[in-house]
Amino acid sequence: MSDIVFISDLHLAPERPEIIRLFSNFVDEIAAQADTLYILGDFLEYWLGDDDPAPALAPVFNKLIELHEKYTTRVFFMHGNRDFLIGNRLAERCHFTLIDEPYSLKLQGKNALLMHGDTLCTDDVDYQKLRRMVRNPAWQQQVLAKSLKERIQLAKELREISQQSTTAKAEYIMDVNQQATDRVFIENDIDLLIHGHTHRPAVHHKLINNHETTRVVLGDWYKAGSYLRVKDTSDLVLQTYQ
Ligand code: MN
Repeated sequence: MSDIVFISDLHLAPERPEIIRLFSNFVDEIAAQADTLYILGDFLEYWLGDDDPAPALAPVFNKLIELHEKYTTRVFFMHGNRDFLIGNRLAERCHFTLIDEPYSLKLQGKNALLMHGDTLCTDDVDYQKLRRMVRNPAWQQQVLAKSLKERIQLAKELREISQQSTTAKAEYIMDVNQQATDRVFIENDIDLLIHGHTHRPAVHHKLINNHETTRVVLGDWYKAGSYLRVKDTSDLVLQTYQ
């Protein structure tokens, strides 16, 4: 029997020790039993490069190591818009496998696709422009060549830009665009899409081109944890963890 768990948008940061503790308990209670854990981005609130020793996040990284060594759960990691600078060095340190998006797999006999979700928010033109910049390998190389101190400053500036523009935007702009989302189902010939990013947890059922589809939106980890657990025949239900 397969047992697969999906999470995203934990936004783990030293400033929120209670969520780090929640994740730690989640590993012991839930992820430990699973064969595979998929982390679909924004696991960390920010990441400035694998050369940052980030001692305050050691409890998080040690828990991932424990998940691998003690519980033998495989961990697959997809970048979000906060932690896209995570690289192979951290992956090796924490024993996870980095995966590109979109990532396809079979789930309960269905064709499924995993994404972070930010590329579905096409109404947010400014954000998509920023995304193209920061996900460009040349830009990333340039940034990683800067000192850690300079990168801390740059991250602060990027966060401020993003906060200013977020407060000025209508709610719908921050959600997925329906046409872009339908297109993902059609072009990839999938039945099931699992993503995070919007912080609007839900299971959507929709008929697209006469084809029944399911879209699971994982929730964030602010007030409580959110996860999807898929066993062989289980219903797709979002669960809260606290
Ligand atoms: Mn995100």
